[in-house]
Amino acid sequence: MSRPKIAFIDLAAQQQRIRPKIDAAVKRVLDHGQYIMGPEIARFEADLSAFCGAKHSIACSNGTDAIALCLMAKGVKAGDAIFCPSFTFASTAEVVAWLGATPYFVDIHDDTYNMNVDSLRAAIASARAAGHNPVGVITVDLFGQAADYDAVEPVAEAEGLWLLCDAAQGFGATYKGRKVGTIGEFTSTSFFPAKPLGCYGDGGAIFTDSDEVNEVLRSMVVHGKGEDKYDNIRIGMNGRLDTMQAAILIEKLAIFPDEIDARNRIAQRYSNALSNVVTTPAVMEGCVSVWAQYTVRAPGRDRAKVIAALNARGVPTAVYYPKPLHQQTAYRHYPSAEGGLPVSERVAQEVFSLPMHPYLDEETQDFIIDSVREVVTAA
Ligand SMILES: *Cc1c(COP(=O)(O)O)cnc(C)c1O
Repeated sequence: MSRPKIAFIDLAAQQQRIRPKIDAAVKRVLDHGQYIMGPEIARFEADLSAFCGAKHSIACSNGTDAIALCLMAKGVKAGDAIFCPSFTFASTAEVVAWLGATPYFVDIHDDTYNMNVDSLRAAIASARAAGHNPVGVITVDLFGQAADYDAVEPVAEAEGLWLLCDAAQGFGATYKGRKVGTIGEFTSTSFFPAKPLGCYGDGGAIFTDSDEVNEVLRSMVVHGKGEDKYDNIRIGMNGRLDTMQAAILIEKLAIFPDEIDARNRIAQRYSNALSNVVTTPAVMEGCVSVWAQYTVRAPGRDRAKVIAALNARGVPTAVYYPKPLHQQTAYRHYPSAEGGLPVSERVAQEVFSLPMHPYLDEETQDFIIDSVREVVTAA
């Protein structure tokens, strides 16, 4: 018997669950016709704040612009140094470079894939010694788990650096009782379709408890508007979320808590069944991941062979990330923490991610688990 094709991320199953609600939401927007800054924007922002506890939620165009808007709100300029992990999606550092500032790469922990605070300290010291002007830290909540904020926050504070949490993968996660969105000076996220909370196009948001930052950001998403959009009081951008996407996201956010639970049940089953054959992801004590990815390693095995064998059995995989940013053509001239980034370099050779989405049934999970066990043992 041939089995149905396994999806790496199954957006169709989610859509099927809420399709009538999505259709009705889209119809409402078509009926009122306020495609830009329609009433769904404020409603969605209120829902986001109710969900994560942030005082202000600002919907915006995508997760990359969300980071850019935060940096622009802080007045980041040439000569400034901003510390961020190298083992991340390009956006995190890209935006720093856009503004003429220097991304300064920091290493990670090999169990959580998140920022290592010792490497952060080393990077800050070498940046100061080299005459850079350290201004901020961007942590990444990679694969859905919050970075270790109890370790990072005191360092940022002692060094006088602002903290931006890039939660493009981690929105919905909890760090020791604190919701992602309420940590740092601000948090950015993405609603790219494949993220844990995704729309049907591009989208993003910024969260902050600061009234002042909120006011600046709301101006910047509409070309630096003052009294109105033809009164320009600062350099901004077209950074708005579309009304249509907000209408869709309202429906998706309503089922997000249930989906987070499902993701955690699946991750727990994967980990229980696989921890003796592969290096399974570690979740820190008291934390809840949203499992943007379920990423494993099989050290000492040939990753290419393992992946090829899994794919041949119909188990899709992905590699996030095959090359850390400090080794990429566009970024290799930027500085890294003293001592280099050995963990980022090693895990990039070893990681691969398994199918993860809330609609993965137990039979499919078991097929994936059995496949990984057999393939890794044979590789
Ligand atoms: C996806 C992602 C982004 C960018 O989000 P977009 O909405 O695609 O611009 C930024 N940072 C990280 C860590 C991401 O995974």
